[in-house]
Amino acid sequence: MTDVVTVGESLGLFRSEATGPLVPGTPVTFSFAGAESNVSIGLARLGLRVAMLGRVGDDPMGQVIGDQLRAEGVDPSRLVVDTDAPTAFMLRYHRIADRVVASYHRHGSAGSRLCRADVDEALVRSAKALHTTGITLGLSLSARDAVEHAVELARPAGVTVSLDINYRSMLWSRQDAAAALRSLIGRVDVVFGGEEELRLLTGETAPEAIAAAVRDLGPTEVVVKRGGRGAVALAGSETVAVPAVRVSCVDPVGAGDAFVAGYLSARLEGLDPAGRLRRGALCGAFAVSVPGDWEGLPHRGELGLLSGAEDVHR
Ligand code: ATP
Repeated sequence: MTDVVTVGESLGLFRSEATGPLVPGTPVTFSFAGAESNVSIGLARLGLRVAMLGRVGDDPMGQVIGDQLRAEGVDPSRLVVDTDAPTAFMLRYHRIADRVVASYHRHGSAGSRLCRADVDEALVRSAKALHTTGITLGLSLSARDAVEHAVELARPAGVTVSLDINYRSMLWSRQDAAAALRSLIGRVDVVFGGEEELRLLTGETAPEAIAAAVRDLGPTEVVVKRGGRGAVALAGSETVAVPAVRVSCVDPVGAGDAFVAGYLSARLEGLDPAGRLRRGALCGAFAVSVPGDWEGLPHRGELGLLSGAEDVHR
């Protein structure tokens, strides 16, 4: 039995270790990333049974992704290995200390060739939740069709559908993203997004007003992620806010995916909106405290580490 199915992309990541322009000899760490694979690992570390649907190339990067997902407890058996297209990758570096630059290499990639035939229908129908992001919607028309198909299967089967807006300007224009999101949003139960991302769907500016306006489009629950300012959720008639957990931020990337994993896991366990937000914020704090997009994600038994005031846990 699978608790959560994620539909999306995982790609190689070359992350510069130094701050400054890239030059020959810049030390680079190899890993992989991708919103849906990050969320999958986050959920698996919190004890949920997770399977990821997507595509990787028949190459070393694709092999690493499949192997590492398996090692993390995520079922990678529905990651189609595409023999005609490479696994995408991204290069990311701190051009200056406060600005991260990402350069994507995903044109014609295996991940962008995801299509509806890749969706395991029985798996989606039997899960408790289906999670995807706006990145997958924007990868290609066939990837968008795969997401639409998975959502069509999930809804009548009572599977909770969640979507993180994750707008990426290098993939598509705000207009195109807004149109695709608007056509899907009425079939989504839980929507996550930053304030600026959710403004693709509404002209409101205050987080509570943004959440209310997005909920009017159909979802039952809207969560506004606010970085170091915490998060706000509108669920049922309740609006709840949490501050961020105070930690030293060494790498802000991946906080949002960590938050989503924490929030969804708490929701599936029946915690109330405040409990969901608190778990999300804890996971976000773990993620920003460690370099890498998913490496710092907490295992269930570690969640208490940030709840206490002691610096040394012994
Ligand atoms: P990204 O796309 O970079 O992964 P995001 O924009 O989707 O992130 P954020 O709002 O940056 O998501 O972060 C999600 C949550 O993680 C926040 O609501 C907060 O609880 C936590 N978080 C983010 N940044 C920090 C920080 N500097 N310190 C502590 N917690 C943080």
